[in-house]
Amino acid sequence: MISPVKIILLLVVIGVVFLAARFFRKPVTDDGGKPKEGGASGKSHTDLVKCPECETYVASLDDHICKS
Ligand SMILES: [Zn+2]
Repeated sequence: MISPVKIILLLVVIGVVFLAARFFRKPVTDDGGKPKEGGASGKSHTDLVKCPECETYVASLDDHICKS
């Protein structure tokens, strides 16, 4: 006879394995929202903007002058 305690333990073990698999896979396929990387401010990473005129990736379109 299977006791409810064993079923609960089995579900707990499955849940732990599932969460562990998600936890170890997370750093590989992270979509963002990671506050640890790049500091707390998040401004260390420079976002490049594509210039619509010359299609050059620049840090800021305000400082960019197209060379044509
Ligand atoms: Zn440009």
